[in-house]
Amino acid sequence: MADYSEMIAGLRKAFNSGVTKTYEWRKKQLEGMLTLLDENRDRIAQCLKDDLNKPSLEAAVFEIDFSRNDLIETMNNLKDWMKPEKVKKGLLNIMDTAYIQREPYGVALVMGAWNYPIQITVVPLFGAIAAGNCVVLKPSELAGSTAKALEELIPKYLDNDCVKVVNGGIPETTALLKERFDYIFYTGNTMVGKIIMRAAAEYLTPVTLELGGKSPVFVDENSDLNLVARRVTWGKLVNAGQTCIAPDYVMCKKELQDKLVEECKKSINEYYGDPAKSQDYCRIINERHLKRIKKLIDGSGNVVVGGDVDEEQKYVAPTILTNVKESDPVMMEEIFGPVLPIMPVNNAEEAITHINKGEKPLAMYVFSKDHEVAKKFLDNTSSGGFVFNDTMMHAGLMSLPFGGVGSSGIGSYHGMHTFDTFSHKRAVLERKHGGEAMVAIRYPPYTEKKLNT
Ligand code: NAD
Repeated sequence: MADYSEMIAGLRKAFNSGVTKTYEWRKKQLEGMLTLLDENRDRIAQCLKDDLNKPSLEAAVFEIDFSRNDLIETMNNLKDWMKPEKVKKGLLNIMDTAYIQREPYGVALVMGAWNYPIQITVVPLFGAIAAGNCVVLKPSELAGSTAKALEELIPKYLDNDCVKVVNGGIPETTALLKERFDYIFYTGNTMVGKIIMRAAAEYLTPVTLELGGKSPVFVDENSDLNLVARRVTWGKLVNAGQTCIAPDYVMCKKELQDKLVEECKKSINEYYGDPAKSQDYCRIINERHLKRIKKLIDGSGNVVVGGDVDEEQKYVAPTILTNVKESDPVMMEEIFGPVLPIMPVNNAEEAITHINKGEKPLAMYVFSKDHEVAKKFLDNTSSGGFVFNDTMMHAGLMSLPFGGVGSSGIGSYHGMHTFDTFSHKRAVLERKHGGEAMVAIRYPPYTEKKLNT
């Protein structure tokens, strides 16, 4: 098994030298990342094509430019974010200075997933270095081309003494997790999230876990079904459904089902024509996931759209299943593929009861023209994020914290939230030498006189 102790010792030595704490070092690394992204756009897009057949527009919008925007926000605000944050004071502290000083944790481990292998790997990295940490970056081995590119490029643009890239699979990750880190940021599935948390517990290392789950959609009967279909199929089929916040399944009244399916068919046709031939439709990451998705299709409900699977091409057609039941296999796990089950419910209350029987989802989507319906879901359920009348759009708004709750995750990031995640909030109170008489009452002996003042 690989031994990373020497590497971590080197990073710790670099951290202890104080170099990463300076504004200049942080800024230089962020600038390095910006140059990396700008000078290697084509190469990155090609890697994403190799790994997932990701269309160039999706590579630009969801990976390179998404990351770039987050990076620029970080660069533009870094000086402000690093400033001490003044806090309210009471009468007792009127002469004191009280503030929160954000300080780096030390050596952080950032582990990415394969579905958005650039965005998910580099956006936490930006926050980790902006906050002044040394970093071990572990891209997902399943997106092999992208992982290789990151391993080759990052040392060319960043400070090698303070940022390391480790590539490899489960054995390498297992070996890494034996080391002591000061922060662990993991993106991936919930089962591995538990492995990470157990390893972190050994050293009481704080974690952020960006996990998954089944993100439900409720469609109210008063909704514009054409609009619903366009927004749901878009969210479902980007990256061929391999998106952590993809709408996982739809709940609506039985009477809406057929009309909704018709509208979804129109959207799919408009977006992709023949998806098998479309340049804009992704492939499934590997054979294991392809077989898993096929099993879900075969085992549940009526296939009313798609259903075709081409193992050689790692292609799964956009697929819709109707009259799906709570007990069907497709409702038992996160689908993470281009399959949209529709489960009929009688009303919003029934949908809420169903949601609350399961784990808290990463995202929740409610469509209605009546805001009271959104309120009903907001008041009676919990999820990482919530979007009314669309899917996935909350992830693009950097001012909103992105993350899960319960088994869909712990902690959040994006924009300033990433900087905050990788910073310890140190409570600082500065007092003066004088004013001793004002606090004399606190010292023993606790005389009768003191008690009565
Ligand atoms: P993955 O298989 O690429 O794993 C992620 C990381 O975990 C990799 O670095 C991998 O090496 C490591 N890993 C895998 N098995 C391990 C083990 N047994 N021990 C130690 N480390 C191990 O990614 P995945 O888990 O297939 O990703 C898909 C899941 O991630 C979905 O559930 C999805 O919802 C979730 N996800 C969540 C977010 C989010 O932001 N919340 C984003 C993307 C994906």
